[in-house]
Parts: sequence; structure tokens; C-alpha cells
Amino acid sequence: MFVFDWRVGASCLVAAVISVGAMFAMMGGKNAKLMMEYQTAQDVMSKAGTEYVRGIPVVKVFQQTVYSFKAFKAAIEDYSNKAEKYTGGVCCVPQSVNLTATEGVFIFLVPAVLLIAPSAFSGGDFAGFITNFAFYAVFSAIVSTALARIMFAASGLMLAKTALARIDTVMNAPTLEITDNPQSPKNNGVEFKDVTFTYDGADVPALEHVSFKVLPGQTVALVGPSGGGKTTAASLIPRFWDVSSGEVFVGDVNVKDINPHVLMDKVAFVFQNTRLFKTSILENVRAARPDASREEVLSALHAAQCDDIIEKLPNGIDTLIGSEGTYLSGGEQQRVSLARAILKNAPIIVLDEATAFADPENEALIQKALKTLTEGRTVIMIAHRLSTVVGADNIIVLDNGHIVEEGRHNVLASGKGLYARMWNEYNQAVRWKIVSVKEGS
Ligand code: ADP
Ligand code: MG
Repeated sequence: MFVFDWRVGASCLVAAVISVGAMFAMMGGKNAKLMMEYQTAQDVMSKAGTEYVRGIPVVKVFQQTVYSFKAFKAAIEDYSNKAEKYTGGVCCVPQSVNLTATEGVFIFLVPAVLLIAPSAFSGGDFAGFITNFAFYAVFSAIVSTALARIMFAASGLMLAKTALARIDTVMNAPTLEITDNPQSPKNNGVEFKDVTFTYDGADVPALEHVSFKVLPGQTVALVGPSGGGKTTAASLIPRFWDVSSGEVFVGDVNVKDINPHVLMDKVAFVFQNTRLFKTSILENVRAARPDASREEVLSALHAAQCDDIIEKLPNGIDTLIGSEGTYLSGGEQQRVSLARAILKNAPIIVLDEATAFADPENEALIQKALKTLTEGRTVIMIAHRLSTVVGADNIIVLDNGHIVEEGRHNVLASGKGLYARMWNEYNQAVRWKIVSVKEGS
């Protein structure tokens, strides 16, 4: 830039200096924090959006209103506020200056060229002057492209940094503490003793002083309003989290004193949002017990009522899921994951709203599969549809992290508590549907 004429070369740099200054004004100092908040808000919004779309079947089935998605609305509003604050308040002026400077680099050439033009004429080297000028005219265009690239690179770098920070939080997550002196569970019972659990970063505990006992072979249902702590309680059994205080026992041994592999063999779980791996059905089911034979996998699939799924797939149980249009519906995925749990053949089963996303036809099949899975085992089940918990040996009603009621269906339903209210509402919802069908026909 400085070889042909340093003055013109320097004038090309003016734009670069302005541009760097503007970028710093947008992304540096205290605005870096604003930009971070803006990106986080965007992230939260897209997560809430996914949850919203996944939840549509539940809203339809249980006649809930859009108020169930307050979180999504709040996330959109928060994003909108942050976006306006950041783009309007912080970026508007610097970005305008930046674009004007980078797109109009040649403007800075004019005064420099006018300054040296007289000397070029007086020196008589007019041809040389034109060549130099042509060089800088072309070069100024390159400068603006280069500056635009630098800007993209800078924002790319920022995105990469946030992505890396997220990977770091996963990689730095503390590993499960393993006991030096493991003990074997003595039976297939489960017990919570004065359990309190608070999620990292949460202000209030998700469970507080919760105690209950599930005898070997019993079926115990956890019910209650959304957010009551049912899923949290279920996840404490296989140690997805460790209690903040109190104790969880499996077979009369604190879960922390059981070798995690032994615990995993003892407990099978089917959770709300089942995920299948992008591999064959065979491998998906076998994930529960890698040494299982092909025949064992087939009979587990049969017990889980998956025969119709396998029949319609081009390569049967060797069909890759998630490729070439072979996707399974939510209810079908549930059945495959039930086959996984059946193959595992664990004595304790934890079920979280296993039928919540199923259509009626799938639900009937899932109920059959569940019957096979739960027979003769200890079962802790969470259910939206109260009809499925009527036969339970014990029903525990969780509200706001506390047990508010406990007992068998007949006793609770004839009482005046939360369960009786839920039972009435549930029956009304069912009746409402039948009446409306009659009127329609
Ligand atoms: P339920 O299954 O009864 O609907 P959950 O056990 O999922 O209830 O949630 C209990 C409480 O814990 C809720 O207030 C919920 O917002 C909170 N919670 C659930 N999962 C998490 C999590 N991973 N991080 C922070 N808070 C959570
Ligand atoms: Mg739940």
C-alpha cells in the first residue's frame, strides 16, 4: 500500500481504522455482555420453541390452553426486547458508520489524490500518476471486501467461543461419585427417606422432605400437577441426579453405595422423551443388553407389540432408523423403547408418562406392552391418565415438591383432596369427549 504513494496508501487505511473502531464499539467493553445476553435469549427461545412443538399433542389431548406455554411466550418477548436493545440501542450508529466507511473507501482517496495531483502534473509524469491512481482505485475495493470479511470472521469467532463454552460445561460436568465399598441391593424395593433435591441454579427445591416406600413387587403411582416433581423423583432412583439431602434406597441400600453398573442392571426406565439412536432397530433394542442374541431381541420386540412396525420396514429389524424416510411416530418409538426395557429384564421399572404422546391405537398397544414389562416387577409409574393408576398399590400425590396425599385410589377419590379434584376433572374431560361425539353424529 505504501510502495507507490504512501499518502494515498494511508488514506485507504482511514476506512479500516474507522471500521475497527466501530466494531469495537459494538462488540467490545460492556457491550460484549449485552451481545452475550442477546445470544442467550435467542438460544432460550429456540429451545422453548422446540418444547412447544413437542407438547402440542399433550395440549390437544388434555384440553390445556396456550397458557401452558407461558415459557415460550416469555422467551419470545425476552428475545424481542434484547434484540431491540442491542440492535437499536447499541449497533445502529456504529454499524451505519462502519458500513459507510467500508463501502465508501474511495471517498478517502479523493482528497489524497487532489493533494498530489498538482505535483504529478508539474513533474510531468502524468502516465505514472494514472497508473498509481488506477492501482489505488482497485485496491480500495479490496480493502472494503477485506474489512467485511474481518467483520464476519469476528462474529464467527464469537459464535465459536460460545459453542466451545457450552461444550466445556458438558465436559467439565462432575462425574458420578463411585463408592469404594459397594454393597448389593438386598431386594427389589425402593425407598425415599426425607429427600430434598434442588436443581443447580434453582432457588426453590424441586422436592422437599419427600418420604415414601415401595415394597418389592408393588406398583406405586406418582401423580400431581405439572411441575410437581414427579419426573425429578423418578430420576433420583437411577442416580441421574444425587439428592441434596436425605437418602434414596434400592433394596435397602443407599443408591450411592451401589456400584452404578449394578444399579443400572437393577432399574429399567422409560422416560417421557424417548430417543432412538440413528442405527438399526436391532441395535437400538440391544443397547439395553449388548450381549443379547437376535432371537432375544425379536422376542422382546414381540412382547412390546412391535410386530406391525417391523413388518412395514423394508429391512425388518435391520432397518436403519432416521435414514431414507424411515421415521417412527412418537407412539412407535415408545414401543421400541419398551422393547428395550423388556430386554433389559430389570426387576425395578420406572415409567414416566409413557403414554403421553401416543394416539389411541398406539396407546392400546403400549398398554399391552406395559403389562408384559411390569408383570411381577416393582413399578414406579408416573401417569397423566388417571385411569391407568386406578389399580396401583399406592398413589402418591406430589404438588410443588411435597407429598400432599397418599393412599389407594378408592380412598383418595372419595376424599376431598387434590386427587379427588383431579379425578373429577379427569372424568369430566372424558365425559365431555363422549357427549360431543354423540352430538356430532
Ligand atoms: P413433573 O414431572 O411433576 O411435571 P418435574 O420433576 O419435571 O415435575 O419438575 C419439578 C420442578 O423442577 C419444576 O419446577 C421444574 O421447573 C424444575 N425442573 C425440572 N427439571 C429441571 C432442570 N433440569 N433444571 C432446573 N429445574 C428443573
Ligand atoms: Mg414430568
